[in-house]
Amino acid sequence: MISAVMPTYARIDLSFVRGEGAYLFDVDGQRYLDFATGIAVNALGHCHPHLVKAVREQAGKLWHTSNMYQIPGQQKLAQRLVDATFADSVFFANSGAEAVECALKMARKYQHDNGKPERFRVISFSNAFHGRTMSTIAAGGQEKHLAGFAPNLEGFDHVPFGNLNAVRAAITNETGAILVEPIQGEGGIRPASSEFLKGLRQAADEFGLLLIFDEVQCGVGRTGKLFAHEWAGVTPDIMSVAKGLGGGFPVGACLANEGAAAALNAGSHGSTFGGNPMAMAAANAVLDVVLAPGFLESVNKVANKLWTKLSDLAAAHPVIIEEIRGSGLMIGIKCKIDSTVLRGKLLEARMLSVGAADNVIRILPPLIIENSHIDEAIQILDDVCAQIEEAS
Ligand SMILES: *Cc1c(COP(=O)(O)O)cnc(C)c1O
Repeated sequence: MISAVMPTYARIDLSFVRGEGAYLFDVDGQRYLDFATGIAVNALGHCHPHLVKAVREQAGKLWHTSNMYQIPGQQKLAQRLVDATFADSVFFANSGAEAVECALKMARKYQHDNGKPERFRVISFSNAFHGRTMSTIAAGGQEKHLAGFAPNLEGFDHVPFGNLNAVRAAITNETGAILVEPIQGEGGIRPASSEFLKGLRQAADEFGLLLIFDEVQCGVGRTGKLFAHEWAGVTPDIMSVAKGLGGGFPVGACLANEGAAAALNAGSHGSTFGGNPMAMAAANAVLDVVLAPGFLESVNKVANKLWTKLSDLAAAHPVIIEEIRGSGLMIGIKCKIDSTVLRGKLLEARMLSVGAADNVIRILPPLIIENSHIDEAIQILDDVCAQIEEAS
């Protein structure tokens, strides 16, 4: 018989009742080190006092009105995002897929409004992930996500990630935009090189295309900059953001420069829940912390420490670990053995991680971790690797 909850996930038989900082507690009171953070969502860990306070206060005042009205929390959050990024304007949604959907609609509408309605196609990349709606599975182009859902949304051309020649060769007079994750997350923590992102910017400018960065996973301080593309010194025209933005409260955002954003005029796009007062209270509270002087510096400091120790770990266990890759606190452990074996052992040792494509384990700790959490994680990893080596 089918479960009451639709069986769309292969869930671990584990449920948590409470969280505190970098730890989760299960129904039996067992403590887990959370280096998964709900897939890069709990950016400030669990129950960060500033977030709890902000959401509690908002809950006692007002939950929802409508985008029929002005929403001061949206104005505040949008202005802060505009001040801190390339963007001139922000649309609020509830998830990553919706933020990408907004970006894709904006790109089509922009080309249409500029007299080029034939430029509806978007170049996206191998191993990409942009969400699970009809448009975002088409953008991702993964057979495992598309199977059974035909006909697929028309208009996406996939080229190998990192290959500029292939991008240029794929551009036709029907191409309107390029969509890329500056660091592929689900695809196995694969960072785009700065040269690649610069080359995409050049190609976009040369051919009149919009450049869209999907920073749903790598954004909001995860790499030690507010947004990952800042490391490359390249700016997009449009950017999707979600996961870490609400610190655990569902919120997504599509940021754009004025030229692109102007395409979504009144009536052209919308969302009932998008940017509601609760979500805005949570996201503004996250930015209070992430934008505070010194916060990103401290992320970089702990990230450097974690990278040093992970590199030592990889050197000590060459039979198990092939490579450490990623940026800041968005880290992939590329395994030589079956990564699900290592991940299972980590779980037994009560350390949470996330799987990814390409036999990679994702390490996505909260941005507020301290040296003690790093020491604890490395100790567990080292013990578990030793166990596996002994058994084989
Ligand atoms: C998770 C993710 C999405 C989809 O976000 P949802 O909130 O699950 O819709 C889109 N793009 C990237 C890069 C992601 O990591």
